[in-house]
Amino acid sequence: MIRFEQVAKVYPDGTTAVDGLSFEVAEGELVTLVGPSGCGKTTTMMMVNRLIEPTSGRITVGGEDISTVDPVRLRRRIGYVIQQAGLFPHRTVLDNTATVPALLGWKKARARARAAELLDLVGLDPEVYGSRYPAQLSGGQRQRVGVARALAADPPVLLMDEPFGAVDPVVRERLQNEFLSLQATVRKTVLLVTHDIEEAVRMGDRIAVYGQGHIAQYDTPAAVLGAP
Ligand code: ADP
Ligand code: ADP
Repeated sequence: MIRFEQVAKVYPDGTTAVDGLSFEVAEGELVTLVGPSGCGKTTTMMMVNRLIEPTSGRITVGGEDISTVDPVRLRRRIGYVIQQAGLFPHRTVLDNTATVPALLGWKKARARARAAELLDLVGLDPEVYGSRYPAQLSGGQRQRVGVARALAADPPVLLMDEPFGAVDPVVRERLQNEFLSLQATVRKTVLLVTHDIEEAVRMGDRIAVYGQGHIAQYDTPAAVLGAP
Protein backbone atom coordinates (compact mmCIF):
# COMPACT_ATOMS: atom_id res chain seq x y z
CA MET A 1 0.00 0.00 0.00
CA ILE A 2 2.89 2.35 0.84
CA ARG A 3 6.26 1.87 -0.81
CA PHE A 4 9.49 3.84 -0.42
CA GLU A 5 12.20 3.33 -3.04
CA GLN A 6 15.64 4.77 -2.28
CA VAL A 7 14.16 7.93 -0.80
CA ALA A 8 16.38 10.73 0.48
CA LYS A 9 15.53 14.06 2.02
CA VAL A 10 18.08 16.83 2.32
CA TYR A 11 16.71 20.04 3.86
CA PRO A 12 17.64 23.40 2.30
CA ASP A 13 20.19 24.02 5.08
CA GLY A 14 22.06 20.87 4.00
CA THR A 15 20.79 18.55 6.77
CA THR A 16 20.30 15.02 5.48
CA ALA A 17 17.22 13.78 7.35
CA VAL A 18 16.93 10.41 5.60
CA ASP A 19 18.95 8.64 2.93
CA GLY A 20 18.48 5.39 0.98
CA LEU A 21 15.13 4.70 2.57
CA SER A 22 13.41 1.63 1.05
CA PHE A 23 10.54 -0.21 2.71
CA GLU A 24 6.99 -1.36 2.10
CA VAL A 25 3.86 -1.35 4.20
CA ALA A 26 1.16 -3.85 3.26
CA GLU A 27 -2.52 -2.98 3.14
CA GLY A 28 -4.07 -3.13 6.62
CA GLU A 29 -0.66 -3.29 8.30
CA LEU A 30 0.33 -1.10 11.25
CA VAL A 31 4.01 -0.20 11.11
CA THR A 32 5.65 1.69 13.94
CA LEU A 33 8.64 3.95 13.24
CA VAL A 34 10.81 4.08 16.35
CA GLY A 35 14.09 5.73 17.22
CA PRO A 36 15.61 8.67 19.07
CA SER A 37 14.76 12.27 18.35
CA GLY A 38 16.19 13.56 15.07
CA CYS A 39 16.64 10.21 13.31
CA GLY A 40 14.18 11.03 10.51
CA LYS A 41 10.87 9.47 11.59
CA THR A 42 8.69 12.55 11.15
CA THR A 43 10.36 13.43 7.85
CA THR A 44 9.57 9.91 6.59
CA MET A 45 5.94 10.17 7.57
CA MET A 46 5.33 13.65 6.26
CA MET A 47 6.65 12.71 2.84
CA VAL A 48 3.71 10.29 2.52
CA ASN A 49 1.13 13.11 2.47
CA ARG A 50 3.50 15.50 0.65
CA LEU A 51 3.82 17.95 3.51
CA ILE A 52 7.52 17.34 2.81
CA GLU A 53 8.87 16.55 -0.68
CA PRO A 54 11.69 14.03 -1.04
CA THR A 55 14.95 15.20 -2.62
CA SER A 56 15.29 11.92 -4.53
CA GLY A 57 13.70 8.49 -4.78
CA ARG A 58 10.10 7.44 -5.25
CA ILE A 59 7.11 6.94 -2.96
CA THR A 60 3.97 5.14 -4.07
CA VAL A 61 0.63 4.86 -2.28
CA GLY A 62 -1.78 2.26 -3.61
CA GLY A 63 0.56 1.76 -6.57
CA GLU A 64 0.47 5.42 -7.58
CA ASP A 65 3.61 7.60 -7.63
CA ILE A 66 2.54 10.35 -5.24
CA SER A 67 4.68 12.99 -6.94
CA THR A 68 2.10 12.86 -9.74
CA VAL A 69 -0.92 13.13 -7.40
CA ASP A 70 -2.38 16.50 -6.45
CA PRO A 71 -1.49 16.96 -2.74
CA VAL A 72 -5.05 17.95 -1.80
CA ARG A 73 -6.47 14.86 -3.47
CA LEU A 74 -3.74 12.73 -1.86
CA ARG A 75 -4.57 14.01 1.63
CA ARG A 76 -8.20 12.96 1.24
CA ARG A 77 -6.93 9.40 1.18
CA ILE A 78 -4.64 9.89 4.16
CA GLY A 79 -5.76 10.61 7.71
CA TYR A 80 -3.28 12.42 9.95
CA VAL A 81 -3.16 12.38 13.76
CA ILE A 82 -0.62 14.56 15.55
CA GLN A 83 0.57 14.97 19.10
CA GLN A 84 -1.80 17.15 21.19
CA ALA A 85 -4.45 16.23 18.57
CA GLY A 86 -4.17 19.64 16.83
CA LEU A 87 -7.87 20.38 17.23
CA PHE A 88 -9.38 23.74 16.27
CA PRO A 89 -9.94 25.45 19.64
CA HIS A 90 -12.95 27.50 18.52
CA ARG A 91 -14.84 24.60 16.99
CA THR A 92 -16.88 22.10 18.96
CA VAL A 93 -15.83 18.47 19.16
CA LEU A 94 -18.55 17.56 16.63
CA ASP A 95 -17.44 20.26 14.17
CA ASN A 96 -13.78 19.32 14.61
CA THR A 97 -14.66 15.72 13.75
CA ALA A 98 -16.73 16.83 10.75
CA THR A 99 -13.89 19.01 9.35
CA VAL A 100 -12.81 16.73 6.51
CA PRO A 101 -16.32 15.72 5.35
CA ALA A 102 -17.20 19.44 5.33
CA LEU A 103 -14.10 20.16 3.20
CA LEU A 104 -15.14 17.36 0.87
CA GLY A 105 -18.46 19.15 0.39
CA TRP A 106 -20.69 16.69 2.20
CA LYS A 107 -24.10 18.05 3.21
CA LYS A 108 -24.00 19.39 6.76
CA ALA A 109 -26.43 16.82 8.18
CA ARG A 110 -24.49 13.93 6.64
CA ALA A 111 -21.15 15.29 7.86
CA ARG A 112 -22.51 15.68 11.39
CA ALA A 113 -24.09 12.23 11.41
CA ARG A 114 -20.74 10.77 10.31
CA ALA A 115 -18.93 12.75 13.01
CA ALA A 116 -21.32 11.48 15.69
CA GLU A 117 -20.79 7.91 14.50
CA LEU A 118 -17.00 8.36 14.68
CA LEU A 119 -17.11 9.87 18.18
CA ASP A 120 -19.10 6.84 19.30
CA LEU A 121 -16.47 4.60 17.72
CA VAL A 122 -13.66 6.21 19.74
CA GLY A 123 -15.68 5.96 22.94
CA LEU A 124 -17.00 9.50 23.27
CA ASP A 125 -20.77 9.88 23.54
CA PRO A 126 -21.60 12.54 20.92
CA GLU A 127 -24.60 13.71 22.98
CA VAL A 128 -22.28 14.48 25.90
CA TYR A 129 -19.08 15.60 24.18
CA GLY A 130 -20.16 16.77 20.71
CA SER A 131 -21.01 20.30 21.84
CA ARG A 132 -17.91 20.78 24.02
CA TYR A 133 -14.81 22.67 22.99
CA PRO A 134 -11.36 21.02 23.01
CA ALA A 135 -10.31 22.94 26.15
CA GLN A 136 -13.16 21.24 28.01
CA LEU A 137 -11.75 17.77 27.39
CA SER A 138 -9.03 15.76 29.07
CA GLY A 139 -5.83 15.09 27.11
CA GLY A 140 -6.94 11.53 26.45
CA GLN A 141 -10.30 12.66 25.15
CA ARG A 142 -8.66 15.18 22.84
CA GLN A 143 -6.51 12.45 21.33
CA ARG A 144 -9.64 10.34 20.77
CA VAL A 145 -11.22 13.27 18.91
CA GLY A 146 -8.00 13.56 16.87
CA VAL A 147 -8.35 9.90 15.84
CA ALA A 148 -12.08 10.32 15.09
CA ARG A 149 -11.34 13.35 12.92
CA ALA A 150 -8.60 11.53 11.00
CA LEU A 151 -10.97 8.63 10.26
CA ALA A 152 -13.94 10.79 9.24
CA ALA A 153 -13.60 10.45 5.48
CA ASP A 154 -12.65 6.76 5.84
CA PRO A 155 -9.15 7.11 4.33
CA PRO A 156 -7.29 3.85 3.60
CA VAL A 157 -4.08 5.26 5.12
CA LEU A 158 -3.53 6.75 8.54
CA LEU A 159 -0.41 8.62 9.66
CA MET A 160 0.06 9.03 13.41
CA ASP A 161 2.84 11.20 14.84
CA GLU A 162 3.39 10.44 18.53
CA PRO A 163 -0.40 10.21 18.90
CA PHE A 164 -0.27 9.17 22.55
CA GLY A 165 2.82 11.14 23.53
CA ALA A 166 1.13 13.99 25.39
CA VAL A 167 -0.79 11.99 28.00
CA ASP A 168 0.24 10.25 31.20
CA PRO A 169 1.34 6.56 31.07
CA VAL A 170 -1.95 5.12 32.35
CA VAL A 171 -4.06 7.03 29.83
CA ARG A 172 -1.50 6.25 27.13
CA GLU A 173 -1.83 2.52 27.66
CA ARG A 174 -5.62 2.81 27.58
CA LEU A 175 -5.50 4.79 24.32
CA GLN A 176 -3.07 2.30 22.79
CA ASN A 177 -5.41 -0.58 23.60
CA GLU A 178 -8.46 1.33 22.38
CA PHE A 179 -6.71 2.12 19.13
CA LEU A 180 -5.68 -1.51 18.64
CA SER A 181 -9.26 -2.72 19.00
CA LEU A 182 -10.42 0.03 16.68
CA GLN A 183 -7.75 -0.96 14.16
CA ALA A 184 -8.94 -4.58 14.33
CA THR A 185 -12.26 -3.30 12.94
CA VAL A 186 -11.20 -0.57 10.51
CA ARG A 187 -7.94 -2.20 9.25
CA LYS A 188 -6.25 0.96 8.03
CA THR A 189 -2.74 0.97 6.66
CA VAL A 190 -1.00 2.81 9.49
CA LEU A 191 2.38 4.47 9.98
CA LEU A 192 2.85 5.37 13.65
CA VAL A 193 5.83 7.39 14.84
CA THR A 194 7.01 6.96 18.41
CA HIS A 195 10.22 7.28 20.39
CA ASP A 196 8.89 4.71 22.87
CA ILE A 197 10.11 1.18 22.05
CA GLU A 198 7.42 -0.36 24.29
CA GLU A 199 4.74 1.42 22.29
CA ALA A 200 6.39 0.33 19.04
CA VAL A 201 6.40 -3.29 20.19
CA ARG A 202 2.88 -3.24 21.60
CA MET A 203 1.29 -1.62 18.56
CA GLY A 204 3.28 -2.60 15.50
CA ASP A 205 2.60 -5.51 13.16
CA ARG A 206 6.10 -4.59 12.06
CA ILE A 207 8.64 -2.16 13.48
CA ALA A 208 11.01 0.11 11.58
CA VAL A 209 13.89 0.69 13.97
CA TYR A 210 15.72 3.83 12.89
CA GLY A 211 19.40 4.55 12.95
CA GLN A 212 20.47 8.05 11.99
CA GLY A 213 18.59 8.80 8.74
CA HIS A 214 17.88 5.21 7.79
CA ILE A 215 16.03 2.08 8.89
CA ALA A 216 18.45 -0.20 10.72
CA GLN A 217 15.97 -3.04 11.21
CA TYR A 218 12.54 -3.75 9.75
CA ASP A 219 10.83 -6.73 11.30
CA THR A 220 8.10 -8.12 13.54
CA PRO A 221 8.10 -7.20 17.25
CA ALA A 222 9.16 -10.75 18.17
CA ALA A 223 12.15 -10.60 15.81
CA VAL A 224 13.13 -7.11 16.99
CA LEU A 225 12.98 -8.18 20.64
CA GLY A 226 14.84 -11.41 19.88
CA ALA A 227 17.64 -9.59 18.07
CA PRO A 228 21.06 -9.78 19.73
P1 ADP B 1 12.48 12.63 14.21
O1 ADP B 1 11.03 12.69 13.78
O2 ADP B 1 13.00 11.24 14.23
O3 ADP B 1 12.74 13.36 15.49
P2 ADP B 1 12.94 14.47 12.01
O4 ADP B 1 12.48 13.79 10.79
O5 ADP B 1 12.08 15.50 12.64
O6 ADP B 1 13.36 13.36 13.08
O7 ADP B 1 14.37 15.16 11.72
C1 ADP B 1 15.44 14.48 11.06
C2 ADP B 1 16.61 15.42 10.91
O8 ADP B 1 16.24 16.48 10.02
C3 ADP B 1 17.06 16.09 12.19
O9 ADP B 1 18.44 16.25 12.15
C4 ADP B 1 16.36 17.43 12.16
O10 ADP B 1 17.07 18.39 12.89
C5 ADP B 1 16.37 17.73 10.67
N1 ADP B 1 15.25 18.59 10.25
C6 ADP B 1 13.93 18.36 10.42
N2 ADP B 1 13.20 19.35 9.87
C7 ADP B 1 14.07 20.22 9.33
C8 ADP B 1 13.95 21.45 8.60
N3 ADP B 1 12.77 21.97 8.30
N4 ADP B 1 15.09 22.07 8.22
C9 ADP B 1 16.31 21.54 8.49
N5 ADP B 1 16.50 20.39 9.15
C10 ADP B 1 15.40 19.74 9.58
P1 ADP C 1 -8.86 10.68 30.45
O1 ADP C 1 -8.57 9.48 31.25
O2 ADP C 1 -9.75 10.38 29.28
O3 ADP C 1 -7.65 11.48 30.04
P2 ADP C 1 -9.33 12.47 32.69
O4 ADP C 1 -9.21 11.54 33.84
O5 ADP C 1 -8.18 13.36 32.40
O6 ADP C 1 -9.76 11.62 31.39
O7 ADP C 1 -10.63 13.38 32.85
C1 ADP C 1 -11.74 12.91 33.59
C2 ADP C 1 -12.98 13.75 33.30
O8 ADP C 1 -12.74 15.15 33.57
C3 ADP C 1 -13.40 13.64 31.87
O9 ADP C 1 -14.75 13.22 31.85
C4 ADP C 1 -13.26 15.04 31.31
O10 ADP C 1 -14.38 15.31 30.48
C5 ADP C 1 -13.26 15.93 32.51
N1 ADP C 1 -12.36 17.09 32.26
C6 ADP C 1 -11.02 17.08 32.17
N2 ADP C 1 -10.54 18.32 31.96
C7 ADP C 1 -11.61 19.14 31.92
C8 ADP C 1 -11.82 20.55 31.70
N3 ADP C 1 -10.78 21.38 31.50
N4 ADP C 1 -13.07 21.03 31.71
C9 ADP C 1 -14.12 20.21 31.90
N5 ADP C 1 -14.02 18.89 32.10
C10 ADP C 1 -12.80 18.35 32.10
